[in-house]
Amino acid sequence: MNKSFDILIIGGGHAGSEAAWISSQFDLRVGLVSGPGASLASTPCNPAIGGVGKGQVVREIDALGGLMGIVADKAGIQYRTLNESKGFAVQSTRVQVDKELYTKYAEELLNTRDNLEIVRAMVKAVVRTDGKFIVTTEDGIVLEASKVIITTGTFLGGKLHTGEEQTAGGRVECKESVGLNDLFSEIKTLPNRFKTGTPPRIDRKTINYSVMDPQESDSGTRNFHTLNESFDRNSKQVACYLTRTNSETLSIIRANKERSPIFNGQIKGVGPRYCPSIEDKAFRYTDKDVHHVFVEPEGLDLETIYPNGVSTSLPKDVQESFIQTISGMENAKILVHGYAVEYDVVDTSQLSRVMEYKEIPGLFFAGQVCGTSGYEEAAGQGIIAGINASLAFLGKESLILDRNDSYIGVMIEDLVSNKRDEPYRLFTARSENRLYVREDNTIQRMNKYRKHLRLSKKLDFFQESILDEIEILEKLIDSTMYYSNIDNKEYFLSKEYGTLESNISLKELLRRPNLNPVKVLEAESLRMGASFHSDVIRTVAVAAKYEGYIDRAVIESEKINRMSKKKIDWSVLADSKNISFECKLRIKTIRPETFGQLQRIEGIRPATLAYVAGNLV
Ligand SMILES: Cc1cc2nc3c(=O)[nH]c(=O)nc-3n(C[C@H](O)[C@H](O)[C@H](O)COP(=O)(O)OP(=O)(O)OC[C@H]3O[C@@H](n4cnc5c(N)ncnc54)[C@H](O)[C@@H]3O)c2cc1C
Repeated sequence: MNKSFDILIIGGGHAGSEAAWISSQFDLRVGLVSGPGASLASTPCNPAIGGVGKGQVVREIDALGGLMGIVADKAGIQYRTLNESKGFAVQSTRVQVDKELYTKYAEELLNTRDNLEIVRAMVKAVVRTDGKFIVTTEDGIVLEASKVIITTGTFLGGKLHTGEEQTAGGRVECKESVGLNDLFSEIKTLPNRFKTGTPPRIDRKTINYSVMDPQESDSGTRNFHTLNESFDRNSKQVACYLTRTNSETLSIIRANKERSPIFNGQIKGVGPRYCPSIEDKAFRYTDKDVHHVFVEPEGLDLETIYPNGVSTSLPKDVQESFIQTISGMENAKILVHGYAVEYDVVDTSQLSRVMEYKEIPGLFFAGQVCGTSGYEEAAGQGIIAGINASLAFLGKESLILDRNDSYIGVMIEDLVSNKRDEPYRLFTARSENRLYVREDNTIQRMNKYRKHLRLSKKLDFFQESILDEIEILEKLIDSTMYYSNIDNKEYFLSKEYGTLESNISLKELLRRPNLNPVKVLEAESLRMGASFHSDVIRTVAVAAKYEGYIDRAVIESEKINRMSKKKIDWSVLADSKNISFECKLRIKTIRPETFGQLQRIEGIRPATLAYVAGNLV
C-alpha cells in the first residue's frame, strides 16, 4: 500500500478541484489523483466562467466557500453581465479567463492546503474491499481511501474525431482513460455515450479585428468572489469581438455533410442540444446562414483565439475553408483544429442527491462523467460531492441543497431523477423559482449552509455584515415615506420617478414599472446620507421589485414542496396493482425517494401521480 486517504478524488478538472478544495476544509486527509497530461482545473473548451444560469452556480459555490469564483477573478480578462436588458432574475455574470492563469492559480490555491496531496497519475482500476476502496494507477501506485469521488470528465473510453481521423484521447493532446466499466466493473453506464465538440483555435495575428464589433469588459459587473472589491480587477482587461457566419460559410458545411462524423454515422454519442456544433446549426436551421461568432482571446499572452459558435468535427480542410469565409477571418490560420470527443457517462439515476452511488456507499461521482456539460455544472457537483463525502466520513448528516433555493439543487435533482439521454446544461428556465434564485441574493440563500458546516470561516464577517445591512436597509425602505407635497412632487419629476399623487414609501417607489430599482435605491440612499455596500443595495432593490411575485411563488412552491418532500416507498409502488407496467418499470429503475423525484421522472403518467398523491395525504 503506497498511500492511504480519508477522501480520494480521481480527476482534477473543475469537479475534482472543487471537491478537493472543499474536502480539505474538513481537516481530513485528502488525495487528488489526476492524469499527468491535463493541468488541474483546465478549460479545454471555451475559456470563460459563468453565463446564463451558470453565473448563479459560481456565486453559490463562492458563498459556500468554494474555489471557482476566486480563481475566475484572479484570471478574469473580460467581464460581462448577460441578459442585462432582461429582468434581474435572469441576469448572469460571465468572465472570460486567461486559460493558463486560471489553471496556474487553481493549482497554487490547491497547493496551499497542507492536508491535500496531489498525485499525478492515471488510475486504471478501483475496487472495493472491506468497506474501503483500493485505487491502482497505471504506473503501479496503490492508494487506499474510505470515500472515493470519481470526476473523470470526458476521459473514460474517450475517442476524438476530426473528420475521418479517429484517435483515442480524453481531449486534445491528452491520453484517454480506461472505460468506466474497466475502471470499476460494478458501475452502471448509460447505453448511449455522450459527445461534445470544440472549435478550431486561430492564430490571433491572422485576424482582422477592424471589421468586427468590439465588446469591451464591463467595469460595472461585480467580481465573483465576495471578498474581492466589487469592481477592481486582478488582471488586465481586454475586448472580445463579434463577427458572423454567412451563406458561403454554411454552404461549404452543407456540401460536406457526408464527411461530417456527426452525420455520417461515425459518431454515435449524443451531443449537447444547447451547445450545438456549426454543422448541427447548418442542418437544423436550414434557412439560417447568419450565426454569431464571438472572437475570444484564450489568454493575455497566448497566440490562440477561440471562435465561440463554430464548434466542429469536420475534416481539417473543410474547417480551413469555412473559417476563411467569415468576415475578418479571410486570412485566418488555424493553429489547433476543432474536434469532438465521445466518452462514457455514469447513469445518474443510480446516484442519490448527495451524488453518492446508491448501491456502493462511499463512492461519489461529479462533473461531466455524470452527463453534464460545462465547467460550472461540474464544479457545482464537485463541491456537493466533496462536502457530502467528508460529512459521510465524519458520520454527520449530509447536505442536500433544495431546488427552491439554489441552482445547484435544481441541477442535482434533475440529474438524479432521470436516466439522461443527452448532455445536461443548466439555464434559468430549469428553476421553478427563478425570481428568487438570483445572483444578487446568493449570500442570503447560502450563508446558513456554509455557517452550519463551518466552511471558509474568513467569509463569516463579510457575509454577516451584508446580511445585517440588508435587514437595516429593508426596514429603511419600508419606513421612508414621500409625502405628496410640492417639494416632493417637484423632486419626483426632476428625477423622472413619475407623479406623486398620494404618499408612498420608498419600497413602493422601487416597484414602479419603468424604473430601475437599483439606480433609484442608490440615488435615494445617497440622498439620505446612508452608505450601504453596493451588493446590499442591489439585493434589497431587486427583492423589493419582485416581492409580490416572490410571495405568490413562495406560497405556490410551499404547497408543491410540502407534497414534493413527502417520502415514498418505491418498492411498494413498484409492486402496486394500481400503477401501469411502464410506470412501474421506470420507478424500479430510478427508485425515487420522494414524491418530488417521482414527479420529475420522464414518462410518469398523471394517473400514477394522482394515485400516489392520493395515498400520501
Ligand atoms: C472537446 C471538448 C469540448 C467541450 N465543449 C463544451 C461545450 O461546448 N460546452 C460546455 O459547456 N462544455 C464543454 N466542454 C466541457 C467542459 O470541458 C467540461 O464540462 C468540464 O471541463 C468538465 O469538468 P470535469 O471536472 O467534469 O472534467 P474534466 O475537466 O474533463 O477533467 C477531468 C480530469 O480527470 C482526469 N482524469 C480522467 N481520467 C482519469 C483517470 N483514469 N485517472 C486519473 N485522472 C483522470 C483528467 O486528467 C482531467 O484532469 C468540452 C470539453 C471538451 C474536452
